[in-house]
Amino acid sequence: MDCIFCDIIKKKRPAKIIYEDELVIVFEDINPQAPVHVLVIPKKHIPTSIDIKEEDNALIGYLFQIANKVAIDNGISGRGFRLVMNCNREAGQTIFHLHLHVFGGRIMHWPPG
Ligand code: AMP
Ligand code: ZN
Repeated sequence: MDCIFCDIIKKKRPAKIIYEDELVIVFEDINPQAPVHVLVIPKKHIPTSIDIKEEDNALIGYLFQIANKVAIDNGISGRGFRLVMNCNREAGQTIFHLHLHVFGGRIMHWPPG
Protein backbone atom coordinates (compact mmCIF):
# COMPACT_ATOMS: atom_id res chain seq x y z
CA MET A 1 0.00 0.00 0.00
CA ASP A 2 1.42 3.37 -1.03
CA CYS A 3 0.73 6.09 1.52
CA ILE A 4 2.64 9.38 1.57
CA PHE A 5 1.90 9.95 5.25
CA CYS A 6 2.96 6.41 6.27
CA ASP A 7 6.21 7.15 4.40
CA ILE A 8 6.65 10.33 6.49
CA ILE A 9 6.01 8.30 9.67
CA LYS A 10 8.63 5.75 8.57
CA LYS A 11 11.04 8.61 7.65
CA LYS A 12 11.13 7.40 4.07
CA ARG A 13 9.95 10.83 2.94
CA PRO A 14 11.08 14.20 4.32
CA ALA A 15 8.78 16.47 6.29
CA LYS A 16 9.14 19.37 8.70
CA ILE A 17 8.19 17.39 11.80
CA ILE A 18 7.32 19.57 14.78
CA TYR A 19 6.13 16.90 17.24
CA GLU A 20 6.19 13.14 17.46
CA ASP A 21 5.38 10.46 20.02
CA GLU A 22 4.36 6.79 19.90
CA LEU A 23 0.82 7.56 18.70
CA VAL A 24 0.93 10.68 16.55
CA ILE A 25 3.15 12.82 14.37
CA VAL A 26 2.73 16.51 13.52
CA PHE A 27 4.35 18.21 10.54
CA GLU A 28 4.00 21.36 8.48
CA ASP A 29 1.70 21.21 5.47
CA ILE A 30 3.74 21.32 2.26
CA ASN A 31 1.29 23.84 0.75
CA PRO A 32 0.29 26.08 3.67
CA GLN A 33 -3.02 27.92 3.49
CA ALA A 34 -2.45 30.05 6.59
CA PRO A 35 0.54 31.33 8.62
CA VAL A 36 0.09 28.25 10.82
CA HIS A 37 -0.92 25.15 8.87
CA VAL A 38 0.13 21.85 10.30
CA LEU A 39 -1.22 18.32 10.04
CA VAL A 40 -1.79 16.13 13.09
CA ILE A 41 -1.95 12.49 12.09
CA PRO A 42 -2.20 9.16 13.90
CA LYS A 43 0.60 6.71 13.22
CA LYS A 44 -2.10 4.11 12.72
CA HIS A 45 -3.17 4.08 9.06
CA ILE A 46 -6.86 4.99 9.13
CA PRO A 47 -7.91 6.08 5.60
CA THR A 48 -10.77 8.48 6.38
CA SER A 49 -12.88 9.68 9.30
CA ILE A 50 -15.63 7.29 8.23
CA ASP A 51 -13.22 4.42 8.99
CA ILE A 52 -12.82 5.43 12.65
CA LYS A 53 -13.84 2.50 14.88
CA GLU A 54 -14.84 2.46 18.52
CA GLU A 55 -11.38 1.10 19.39
CA ASP A 56 -9.92 4.34 17.96
CA ASN A 57 -11.91 6.67 20.23
CA ALA A 58 -9.05 7.38 22.63
CA LEU A 59 -6.63 7.92 19.75
CA ILE A 60 -8.96 10.42 18.08
CA GLY A 61 -9.42 12.31 21.36
CA TYR A 62 -5.66 12.40 21.67
CA LEU A 63 -5.35 13.93 18.17
CA PHE A 64 -7.43 16.85 19.43
CA GLN A 65 -5.27 17.20 22.55
CA ILE A 66 -2.19 17.41 20.34
CA ALA A 67 -3.91 19.90 18.01
CA ASN A 68 -4.60 22.04 21.10
CA LYS A 69 -0.93 21.83 22.07
CA VAL A 70 0.06 22.98 18.56
CA ALA A 71 -2.36 25.92 18.83
CA ILE A 72 -1.05 26.90 22.28
CA ASP A 73 2.60 26.54 21.25
CA ASN A 74 1.96 28.76 18.21
CA GLY A 75 0.14 31.44 20.19
CA ILE A 76 -3.15 31.06 18.33
CA SER A 77 -5.30 29.32 20.93
CA GLY A 78 -6.81 32.56 22.25
CA ARG A 79 -7.03 34.38 18.90
CA GLY A 80 -8.73 31.43 17.27
CA PHE A 81 -7.85 28.64 14.91
CA ARG A 82 -9.62 26.13 12.73
CA LEU A 83 -9.49 22.34 12.78
CA VAL A 84 -10.48 20.59 9.55
CA MET A 85 -10.78 16.93 8.68
CA ASN A 86 -11.88 16.36 5.10
CA CYS A 87 -13.64 13.07 4.41
CA ASN A 88 -13.58 11.64 0.90
CA ARG A 89 -13.53 13.24 -2.51
CA GLU A 90 -16.29 15.86 -2.45
CA ALA A 91 -14.89 17.30 0.78
CA GLY A 92 -11.50 17.66 -0.89
CA GLN A 93 -9.63 14.81 0.78
CA THR A 94 -6.53 14.08 -1.29
CA ILE A 95 -4.43 11.99 1.11
CA PHE A 96 -6.19 8.92 2.40
CA HIS A 97 -4.49 8.71 5.78
CA LEU A 98 -6.51 10.46 8.48
CA HIS A 99 -5.23 13.94 9.28
CA LEU A 100 -6.41 16.92 11.24
CA HIS A 101 -5.49 20.26 9.70
CA VAL A 102 -4.68 23.02 12.19
CA PHE A 103 -5.05 26.45 10.55
CA GLY A 104 -4.39 29.75 12.26
CA GLY A 105 -2.68 33.12 12.26
CA ARG A 106 -5.23 34.83 10.05
CA ILE A 107 -8.99 35.53 9.96
CA MET A 108 -10.91 32.45 8.84
CA HIS A 109 -13.95 32.90 6.65
CA TRP A 110 -17.25 31.06 6.77
CA PRO A 111 -18.74 29.20 5.05
CA PRO A 112 -15.66 27.36 3.77
CA GLY A 113 -15.37 26.92 0.01
P1 AMP B 1 -6.56 16.83 2.37
O1 AMP B 1 -6.82 17.58 1.08
O2 AMP B 1 -7.48 17.17 3.49
O3 AMP B 1 -6.43 15.34 2.12
O4 AMP B 1 -5.15 17.36 2.87
C1 AMP B 1 -3.94 16.82 2.43
C2 AMP B 1 -2.89 17.85 2.78
O5 AMP B 1 -1.63 17.22 2.74
C3 AMP B 1 -2.84 19.03 1.80
O6 AMP B 1 -3.03 20.24 2.53
C4 AMP B 1 -1.44 18.93 1.21
O7 AMP B 1 -0.85 20.19 0.97
C5 AMP B 1 -0.70 18.14 2.26
N1 AMP B 1 0.44 17.37 1.79
C6 AMP B 1 0.50 16.57 0.70
N2 AMP B 1 1.70 15.98 0.60
C7 AMP B 1 2.42 16.43 1.67
C8 AMP B 1 3.75 16.19 2.11
N3 AMP B 1 4.59 15.37 1.47
N4 AMP B 1 4.16 16.83 3.24
C9 AMP B 1 3.33 17.66 3.89
N5 AMP B 1 2.07 17.91 3.53
C10 AMP B 1 1.61 17.31 2.43
ZN1 ZN C 1 -0.90 5.82 5.79
